[in-house]
Amino acid sequence: MKQFQYVRPTSQQSVIDALTKPGTKIIAGGSNLVDLMKHGVMSPDKLVDINKLPLRDISSIMGNVRTIAIGALALNSQVAEHAMIKERLPLLSQALNAGASAQLRNMATVGGNLMQRTRCPYFYDTALPCNKRNPGSGCGALEGFNRMHAIFGQSEKCIAVHPSDMAVALAALDATVEVVGKKGRRYIAFKDFHRLPGDHPELDNTLAKDELITNVIVPENNFAKNSYYLKVRDRASYAFALVSAAVALDIDNGRIQDARIAMGGVAHKPWRFYEVEKALKGKPASTETFEQIGELAMQGAKAYKENAFKLKLTPATLVEALKHAARIA
Ligand code: SF4
Repeated sequence: MKQFQYVRPTSQQSVIDALTKPGTKIIAGGSNLVDLMKHGVMSPDKLVDINKLPLRDISSIMGNVRTIAIGALALNSQVAEHAMIKERLPLLSQALNAGASAQLRNMATVGGNLMQRTRCPYFYDTALPCNKRNPGSGCGALEGFNRMHAIFGQSEKCIAVHPSDMAVALAALDATVEVVGKKGRRYIAFKDFHRLPGDHPELDNTLAKDELITNVIVPENNFAKNSYYLKVRDRASYAFALVSAAVALDIDNGRIQDARIAMGGVAHKPWRFYEVEKALKGKPASTETFEQIGELAMQGAKAYKENAFKLKLTPATLVEALKHAARIA
Protein backbone atom coordinates (compact mmCIF):
# COMPACT_ATOMS: atom_id res chain seq x y z
CA MET A 1 0.00 0.00 0.00
CA LYS A 2 1.25 3.48 -0.87
CA GLN A 3 2.35 5.62 2.09
CA PHE A 4 -0.08 8.38 3.02
CA GLN A 5 -0.51 11.20 5.50
CA TYR A 6 -3.16 10.89 8.21
CA VAL A 7 -4.84 13.78 10.05
CA ARG A 8 -7.71 13.91 12.54
CA PRO A 9 -9.19 17.43 12.53
CA THR A 10 -11.81 18.58 15.02
CA SER A 11 -13.66 21.15 12.89
CA GLN A 12 -15.70 20.94 9.70
CA GLN A 13 -13.77 23.88 8.26
CA SER A 14 -10.44 22.04 8.65
CA VAL A 15 -11.93 19.05 6.80
CA ILE A 16 -13.22 21.26 3.98
CA ASP A 17 -9.84 23.05 3.72
CA ALA A 18 -8.04 19.70 3.56
CA LEU A 19 -10.37 18.42 0.84
CA THR A 20 -9.39 21.24 -1.54
CA LYS A 21 -5.96 19.57 -1.97
CA PRO A 22 -5.94 16.86 -4.69
CA GLY A 23 -5.34 13.32 -3.48
CA THR A 24 -7.18 13.85 -0.18
CA LYS A 25 -9.89 11.44 0.94
CA ILE A 26 -12.17 11.31 3.95
CA ILE A 27 -12.12 8.22 6.16
CA ALA A 28 -14.68 7.37 8.87
CA GLY A 29 -15.38 3.65 9.48
CA GLY A 30 -13.02 2.67 6.66
CA SER A 31 -14.96 -0.51 5.93
CA ASN A 32 -14.72 0.00 2.15
CA LEU A 33 -11.88 2.50 1.69
CA VAL A 34 -9.26 0.41 3.52
CA ASP A 35 -10.05 -2.55 1.24
CA LEU A 36 -9.76 -0.32 -1.83
CA MET A 37 -6.39 0.97 -0.62
CA LYS A 38 -5.10 -2.55 0.05
CA HIS A 39 -6.07 -3.56 -3.50
CA GLY A 40 -4.41 -0.43 -4.95
CA VAL A 41 -7.75 0.68 -6.41
CA MET A 42 -7.57 3.97 -4.51
CA SER A 43 -4.25 5.47 -3.42
CA PRO A 44 -4.88 8.73 -1.56
CA ASP A 45 -1.93 10.94 -0.52
CA LYS A 46 -3.75 12.03 2.59
CA LEU A 47 -6.55 10.61 4.74
CA VAL A 48 -8.72 12.98 6.75
CA ASP A 49 -10.26 11.05 9.64
CA ILE A 50 -13.54 12.81 10.51
CA ASN A 51 -14.44 10.76 13.58
CA LYS A 52 -13.88 13.72 15.91
CA LEU A 53 -16.62 15.79 14.25
CA PRO A 54 -19.94 15.97 16.16
CA LEU A 55 -22.01 14.24 13.47
CA ARG A 56 -23.45 11.20 15.28
CA ASP A 57 -26.84 12.48 16.43
CA ILE A 58 -30.18 11.08 15.33
CA SER A 59 -32.93 13.61 16.05
CA SER A 60 -36.48 14.55 15.20
CA ILE A 61 -36.86 18.07 13.78
CA MET A 62 -40.12 20.01 13.82
CA GLY A 63 -40.69 22.30 10.83
CA ASN A 64 -43.18 22.72 7.99
CA VAL A 65 -42.53 19.04 7.45
CA ARG A 66 -41.43 16.95 10.43
CA THR A 67 -38.15 15.22 9.61
CA ILE A 68 -35.59 12.90 11.14
CA ALA A 69 -31.98 14.02 10.78
CA ILE A 70 -29.32 11.30 10.90
CA GLY A 71 -25.72 12.43 11.40
CA ALA A 72 -23.24 11.29 8.77
CA LEU A 73 -21.13 9.59 11.45
CA ALA A 74 -24.02 7.66 13.02
CA LEU A 75 -23.09 4.00 12.83
CA ASN A 76 -25.24 1.70 10.73
CA SER A 77 -25.97 -0.40 13.85
CA GLN A 78 -26.91 2.72 15.87
CA VAL A 79 -29.43 3.78 13.20
CA ALA A 80 -30.86 0.29 12.69
CA GLU A 81 -31.46 -0.17 16.44
CA HIS A 82 -32.63 3.38 17.25
CA ALA A 83 -36.15 3.27 18.75
CA MET A 84 -37.38 6.25 16.70
CA ILE A 85 -36.07 4.78 13.43
CA LYS A 86 -37.62 1.38 14.18
CA GLU A 87 -40.95 2.98 14.98
CA ARG A 88 -41.17 5.68 12.29
CA LEU A 89 -38.82 4.47 9.53
CA PRO A 90 -38.86 0.67 9.85
CA LEU A 91 -37.94 0.32 6.16
CA LEU A 92 -34.58 1.97 6.87
CA SER A 93 -33.94 -0.25 9.88
CA GLN A 94 -34.73 -3.39 7.85
CA ALA A 95 -32.46 -2.35 4.97
CA LEU A 96 -29.56 -1.64 7.33
CA ASN A 97 -29.93 -5.00 9.04
CA ALA A 98 -30.00 -6.73 5.63
CA GLY A 99 -26.90 -4.83 4.53
CA ALA A 100 -23.98 -6.31 6.39
CA SER A 101 -22.79 -8.39 9.34
CA ALA A 102 -23.07 -7.00 12.88
CA GLN A 103 -19.31 -6.37 12.90
CA LEU A 104 -19.51 -4.22 9.77
CA ARG A 105 -22.62 -2.38 10.96
CA ASN A 106 -20.70 -1.47 14.13
CA MET A 107 -17.94 0.16 12.06
CA ALA A 108 -19.68 1.57 8.99
CA THR A 109 -21.18 5.05 9.09
CA VAL A 110 -24.20 6.46 7.27
CA GLY A 111 -22.03 8.82 5.21
CA GLY A 112 -19.61 6.05 4.33
CA ASN A 113 -22.45 3.75 3.35
CA LEU A 114 -23.57 6.34 0.78
CA MET A 115 -20.03 6.73 -0.51
CA GLN A 116 -19.19 3.03 -0.83
CA ARG A 117 -18.11 1.95 -4.26
CA THR A 118 -19.34 -0.77 -6.57
CA ARG A 119 -18.27 -4.37 -5.94
CA CYS A 120 -17.82 -5.08 -9.67
CA PRO A 121 -14.85 -7.52 -9.69
CA TYR A 122 -13.15 -5.69 -12.58
CA PHE A 123 -13.11 -2.51 -10.49
CA TYR A 124 -11.14 -4.33 -7.77
CA ASP A 125 -8.61 -6.03 -10.06
CA THR A 126 -6.05 -3.46 -11.20
CA ALA A 127 -4.79 -5.82 -13.94
CA LEU A 128 -8.16 -5.68 -15.77
CA PRO A 129 -9.85 -2.90 -17.78
CA CYS A 130 -12.36 -0.77 -15.90
CA ASN A 131 -13.59 2.69 -16.92
CA LYS A 132 -14.66 3.47 -13.37
CA ARG A 133 -11.21 2.82 -11.89
CA ASN A 134 -9.18 3.90 -14.93
CA PRO A 135 -11.25 6.06 -17.33
CA GLY A 136 -10.76 5.13 -20.99
CA SER A 137 -9.42 1.61 -20.25
CA GLY A 138 -12.70 -0.09 -21.23
CA CYS A 139 -15.35 -2.05 -19.37
CA GLY A 140 -14.36 -5.65 -18.69
CA ALA A 141 -17.85 -6.57 -17.52
CA LEU A 142 -19.64 -5.68 -20.78
CA GLU A 143 -18.45 -8.87 -22.51
CA GLY A 144 -17.18 -10.63 -19.40
CA PHE A 145 -18.52 -11.68 -16.01
CA ASN A 146 -21.71 -9.64 -15.64
CA ARG A 147 -24.02 -11.76 -13.52
CA MET A 148 -24.33 -9.09 -10.76
CA HIS A 149 -24.66 -6.14 -13.13
CA ALA A 150 -27.26 -3.53 -14.08
CA ILE A 151 -30.41 -3.90 -16.15
CA PHE A 152 -31.52 -0.25 -15.91
CA GLY A 153 -29.75 3.05 -16.67
CA GLN A 154 -26.45 1.54 -17.76
CA SER A 155 -24.14 2.97 -20.46
CA GLU A 156 -21.63 1.45 -22.88
CA LYS A 157 -18.95 2.75 -20.49
CA CYS A 158 -20.16 0.99 -17.32
CA ILE A 159 -22.85 -1.49 -16.24
CA ALA A 160 -21.99 -1.65 -12.54
CA VAL A 161 -24.56 -1.53 -9.71
CA HIS A 162 -24.47 0.40 -6.47
CA PRO A 163 -23.92 -1.98 -3.54
CA SER A 164 -25.76 -0.21 -0.68
CA ASP A 165 -28.98 -1.54 0.86
CA MET A 166 -29.41 1.52 3.08
CA ALA A 167 -29.38 3.81 0.03
CA VAL A 168 -32.25 1.88 -1.56
CA ALA A 169 -34.45 2.53 1.48
CA LEU A 170 -33.39 6.20 1.61
CA ALA A 171 -34.27 6.58 -2.08
CA ALA A 172 -37.74 5.17 -1.44
CA LEU A 173 -38.18 7.45 1.58
CA ASP A 174 -37.33 10.62 -0.42
CA ALA A 175 -34.39 11.52 1.82
CA THR A 176 -32.18 14.58 1.36
CA VAL A 177 -28.40 14.67 1.80
CA GLU A 178 -27.07 17.71 3.67
CA VAL A 179 -23.52 18.65 2.67
CA VAL A 180 -21.09 21.49 3.49
CA GLY A 181 -18.22 22.75 1.38
CA LYS A 182 -16.30 25.89 0.40
CA LYS A 183 -19.52 27.45 -0.93
CA GLY A 184 -21.47 26.69 2.25
CA ARG A 185 -24.29 24.29 3.02
CA ARG A 186 -26.57 22.71 0.44
CA TYR A 187 -29.19 19.98 0.27
CA ILE A 188 -29.18 17.30 -2.43
CA ALA A 189 -32.39 15.36 -3.12
CA PHE A 190 -31.55 11.69 -2.74
CA LYS A 191 -32.58 10.91 -6.33
CA ASP A 192 -29.87 13.35 -7.48
CA PHE A 193 -27.11 12.24 -5.11
CA HIS A 194 -25.95 9.09 -6.91
CA ARG A 195 -25.27 9.30 -10.66
CA LEU A 196 -25.90 7.07 -13.62
CA PRO A 197 -22.62 6.11 -15.34
CA GLY A 198 -23.13 7.91 -18.68
CA ASP A 199 -19.74 8.96 -20.12
CA HIS A 200 -18.19 9.41 -16.67
CA PRO A 201 -18.55 6.21 -14.66
CA GLU A 202 -15.59 7.30 -12.51
CA LEU A 203 -18.05 9.67 -10.81
CA ASP A 204 -20.41 7.85 -8.45
CA ASN A 205 -22.27 10.88 -7.10
CA THR A 206 -22.81 14.62 -7.36
CA LEU A 207 -20.78 15.60 -4.30
CA ALA A 208 -18.19 18.31 -5.10
CA LYS A 209 -14.55 17.50 -4.23
CA ASP A 210 -14.52 19.92 -1.27
CA GLU A 211 -17.85 18.78 0.17
CA LEU A 212 -18.51 16.74 3.28
CA ILE A 213 -21.77 14.91 4.05
CA THR A 214 -23.10 16.16 7.39
CA ASN A 215 -26.62 14.70 7.70
CA VAL A 216 -29.17 12.58 5.92
CA ILE A 217 -32.66 14.01 6.40
CA VAL A 218 -35.74 11.86 6.03
CA PRO A 219 -39.26 13.37 5.99
CA GLU A 220 -41.79 11.68 8.22
CA ASN A 221 -44.48 9.80 6.29
CA ASN A 222 -47.50 7.54 6.54
CA PHE A 223 -45.62 4.44 5.43
CA ALA A 224 -44.49 2.97 8.76
CA LYS A 225 -47.31 0.39 8.94
CA ASN A 226 -46.90 -0.93 5.41
CA SER A 227 -43.29 -1.01 4.31
CA TYR A 228 -40.88 -3.83 3.57
CA TYR A 229 -37.29 -4.40 2.45
CA LEU A 230 -36.72 -7.62 0.55
CA LYS A 231 -33.20 -8.64 -0.44
CA VAL A 232 -32.45 -11.58 -2.70
CA ARG A 233 -28.86 -12.81 -2.52
CA ASP A 234 -26.81 -15.86 -3.40
CA ARG A 235 -26.47 -17.09 0.18
CA ALA A 236 -28.36 -16.50 3.41
CA SER A 237 -25.30 -15.12 5.23
CA TYR A 238 -24.18 -11.64 4.24
CA ALA A 239 -23.81 -11.05 0.54
CA PHE A 240 -24.54 -8.16 -1.81
CA ALA A 241 -27.99 -8.09 -3.39
CA LEU A 242 -28.70 -9.77 -6.66
CA VAL A 243 -31.88 -7.72 -6.50
CA SER A 244 -33.54 -5.90 -3.60
CA ALA A 245 -36.78 -3.96 -3.19
CA ALA A 246 -37.68 -1.18 -0.74
CA VAL A 247 -41.42 -0.61 -0.87
CA ALA A 248 -43.64 1.65 1.20
CA LEU A 249 -47.41 1.89 0.94
CA ASP A 250 -50.00 4.16 2.50
CA ILE A 251 -53.14 2.00 2.63
CA ASP A 252 -56.55 3.18 3.75
CA ASN A 253 -59.58 0.90 3.76
CA GLY A 254 -57.77 -1.60 1.58
CA ARG A 255 -56.87 0.98 -1.11
CA ILE A 256 -53.42 2.34 -1.87
CA GLN A 257 -53.32 6.09 -1.22
CA ASP A 258 -49.63 6.50 -1.98
CA ALA A 259 -46.62 4.32 -2.82
CA ARG A 260 -42.82 4.54 -2.91
CA ILE A 261 -40.67 1.93 -4.63
CA ALA A 262 -36.92 1.71 -5.08
CA MET A 263 -34.81 -1.27 -6.05
CA GLY A 264 -31.16 -2.21 -5.59
CA GLY A 265 -28.87 -4.50 -7.58
CA VAL A 266 -30.43 -3.29 -10.82
CA ALA A 267 -28.70 0.04 -11.60
CA HIS A 268 -25.70 2.29 -10.92
CA LYS A 269 -27.88 4.04 -8.32
CA PRO A 270 -30.94 3.07 -6.30
CA TRP A 271 -33.64 2.82 -8.97
CA ARG A 272 -36.99 4.48 -8.35
CA PHE A 273 -40.12 3.21 -10.09
CA TYR A 274 -42.14 6.43 -10.40
CA GLU A 275 -44.54 5.10 -13.06
CA VAL A 276 -45.36 2.04 -10.96
CA GLU A 277 -45.94 4.25 -7.91
CA LYS A 278 -48.44 6.32 -9.95
CA ALA A 279 -50.14 3.22 -11.32
CA LEU A 280 -50.66 1.80 -7.82
CA LYS A 281 -52.45 4.89 -6.46
CA GLY A 282 -56.14 4.28 -5.86
CA LYS A 283 -55.90 0.55 -6.56
CA PRO A 284 -56.86 -2.17 -4.06
CA ALA A 285 -53.88 -3.49 -2.10
CA SER A 286 -54.21 -7.00 -3.50
CA THR A 287 -52.09 -9.74 -5.06
CA GLU A 288 -53.89 -9.10 -8.39
CA THR A 289 -52.93 -5.41 -8.35
CA PHE A 290 -49.30 -6.17 -7.58
CA GLU A 291 -49.00 -8.89 -10.19
CA GLN A 292 -50.34 -6.52 -12.84
CA ILE A 293 -47.53 -3.95 -12.43
CA GLY A 294 -44.66 -6.34 -13.29
CA GLU A 295 -44.61 -5.47 -16.99
CA LEU A 296 -44.73 -1.73 -16.34
CA ALA A 297 -41.86 -2.02 -13.87
CA MET A 298 -39.61 -3.69 -16.44
CA GLN A 299 -40.02 -1.13 -19.24
CA GLY A 300 -36.58 -0.12 -20.51
CA ALA A 301 -34.76 -3.05 -18.87
CA LYS A 302 -31.80 -4.53 -20.77
CA ALA A 303 -29.85 -7.63 -19.76
CA TYR A 304 -26.42 -9.02 -20.68
CA LYS A 305 -25.08 -12.52 -21.22
CA GLU A 306 -25.11 -13.62 -17.59
CA ASN A 307 -27.74 -11.46 -15.87
CA ALA A 308 -30.86 -12.18 -17.96
CA PHE A 309 -32.30 -13.94 -14.89
CA LYS A 310 -32.75 -10.45 -13.37
CA LEU A 311 -35.48 -9.72 -15.95
CA LYS A 312 -37.65 -12.26 -14.11
CA LEU A 313 -36.20 -11.91 -10.62
CA THR A 314 -36.76 -8.13 -10.48
CA PRO A 315 -40.57 -8.10 -10.96
CA ALA A 316 -40.93 -11.25 -8.83
CA THR A 317 -39.00 -9.57 -5.98
CA LEU A 318 -41.03 -6.40 -6.34
CA VAL A 319 -44.37 -8.23 -6.22
CA GLU A 320 -43.26 -10.25 -3.18
CA ALA A 321 -42.08 -7.12 -1.35
CA LEU A 322 -45.39 -5.35 -2.10
CA LYS A 323 -47.35 -8.32 -0.75
CA HIS A 324 -45.27 -8.28 2.45
CA ALA A 325 -45.75 -4.51 2.81
CA ALA A 326 -49.52 -4.89 2.35
CA ARG A 327 -49.43 -7.82 4.84
CA ILE A 328 -50.99 -10.25 2.39
CA ALA A 329 -47.87 -12.41 1.90
FE1 SF4 B 1 -15.60 -1.03 -14.40
FE2 SF4 B 1 -18.17 -0.38 -14.45
FE3 SF4 B 1 -17.24 -1.97 -16.30
FE4 SF4 B 1 -17.36 -2.83 -13.79
S1 SF4 B 1 -19.07 -2.33 -15.07
S2 SF4 B 1 -15.68 -3.08 -15.26
S3 SF4 B 1 -17.00 -0.95 -12.64
S4 SF4 B 1 -16.60 0.14 -15.96
